[in-house]
Amino acid sequence: MTTTQRTPRPARTVLPQAEAVIDLDAVAENVRALREYAGPAAVMAVVKADAYNHGAVPVARAALTAGARELGVTTLGEALELRAAGIEAPILSWLHTADSDFAPAVEAGIELGLSSPRHLAAVVEAARRVGITATVTVKVDTGLNRNGVAVDEWGDMLRDLGRAQAEGVVRLRGAFSHLAHGDEPEHPGNAEQRDRLSEAVADLRRHSLAPEVVHLSNSAATVTRSDLRFDMVRPGIAMYGLTPIPELGDMGFRPVMTVRARVVLVKKVKAGDGVSYGHTWTAPADTTVALLPLGYADGVRRSLSGRIEVQLGGRRCPQIGRVCMDQVVVDLGPDGAGVSEGDEALFFGDGRHGEPNAQDWADKLDTINYEIVTGIGGRTVRTYVGSEGSVTACPS
Ligand SMILES: *Cc1c(COP(=O)(O)O)cnc(C)c1O
Repeated sequence: MTTTQRTPRPARTVLPQAEAVIDLDAVAENVRALREYAGPAAVMAVVKADAYNHGAVPVARAALTAGARELGVTTLGEALELRAAGIEAPILSWLHTADSDFAPAVEAGIELGLSSPRHLAAVVEAARRVGITATVTVKVDTGLNRNGVAVDEWGDMLRDLGRAQAEGVVRLRGAFSHLAHGDEPEHPGNAEQRDRLSEAVADLRRHSLAPEVVHLSNSAATVTRSDLRFDMVRPGIAMYGLTPIPELGDMGFRPVMTVRARVVLVKKVKAGDGVSYGHTWTAPADTTVALLPLGYADGVRRSLSGRIEVQLGGRRCPQIGRVCMDQVVVDLGPDGAGVSEGDEALFFGDGRHGEPNAQDWADKLDTINYEIVTGIGGRTVRTYVGSEGSVTACPS
């Protein structure tokens, strides 16, 4: 037998079944809007948790291009991922166990948020080991009582930081804190935290540890409290186009993530027929339904069963019956709404095509929009559109 050279068949491009489409132009627009709100203060784009599940590297690039000056993340792994992608902007990482190996981050020039003398000691040890001065930022607990240097450790922190800086093993670049009531603009705690941060900065100065940048505001404070700006603001959620304070209505941000899926099957059901597990929904009249390949394993919470609508066939169609692990069914109505298999259904997005917003899901689930966008995953494929030019897909 002879072997024949076979040319590989070119892969047929098929649209993903279920996608989270990330509009990088919307990221850029939102960053520009945040810069307006920030006035003279710089913007640190918070891209923790893989940019709130929007993709850290592309979002960081779009944000920096739109004028964000720095990046903020929680873990060393997140920070190193950005550096490895060739991003040279300042990156601050602020949530670490004290036994972390800080050496790779020191080598990569990651700015390390410090929350206790133990954390400082670990960074000092790593900096000595690699022979590079570590850039650090002290996180002050001004009332959130979560991350940050506790009041009773502040004296030790000042002493140890002073010594480490004098030795040249660390350089203090910044001081920051995080608000407990940022989403309640009039709450007196905001001014208290502002004043405590100012006092902490004064303490640092008295110890010859003057920070170059001081920051406190999250998205909510960035849009509502110019008195909390200091040198830089740290917005996250607003950059993703979602409101940090739903009660205040539209703040001029455009949602970045659109979740959509393509119709797997269209079928008729008869009056009295039950649909999906447990037949929690029965057709009141003959109708047409569509099957969509997105379920609770992909972030459509089961407790949303029968409570959401998807935009399909130019109208809002109710999702009916139980949300399953992999799929949901929607009612197209007796006329089928002109929907065919393969058509796109929008679960949530920026509303430009009549679809719901992530906030609508948050309201139904009695949670915040942050949890909706960070909860999308499973088999959903992340696709980018906008300023990066090309459309690239990778598993989300
Ligand atoms: C997540 C986070 C932010 C961003 O908060 P948003 O409410 O999303 O703007 C800012 N600072 C710290 C310390 C954070 O953990």
